[in-house]
Parts: sequence; structure tokens; C-alpha cells
Amino acid sequence: MKKIITLTFVIVFLYRCEKPVKISDRKTISKTAESTTSILKIEGCEYVFYTSTSGAALTHKGNCSNNTHKP
Ligand SMILES: [Zn+2]
Repeated sequence: MKKIITLTFVIVFLYRCEKPVKISDRKTISKTAESTTSILKIEGCEYVFYTSTSGAALTHKGNCSNNTHKP
């Protein structure tokens, strides 16, 4: 019984990991020869996405438009 519960948990976990992230909106706000900065909208939240020749970074946008962040 314990194996079945563990197996079910692993299958659910793997399914969730393979679920693709849906980007609903993408706006490029800055572009140079070496880097690009964009605003992405993922599941209602806005993120700043920075890519350059040396790496990439993704962070939640401070003034995100999602109503869940507003008091
Ligand atoms: Zn947000």
C-alpha cells in the first residue's frame, strides 16, 4: 500500500514538472547588441526577463499588475 501511495505521488509530481509554462504576453522594453530585457506575463503575474551573451535572469516585477498583490 505504501508503494502505491509513493508511486502516485511521484507520478503527480512528474506530471506537474512537465506541465509547460504558458507565457500570455511578452513585451521587449530594452534591446542592445548584447542584451534584451522583456516583460513576461505568466499565470497573471508580470516578470522581468533579462538575457545577455553571458547569461539570463528572471524576476517578479515589483509593480506587477496582478490584483492579488494589491491591498
Ligand atoms: Zn505578481
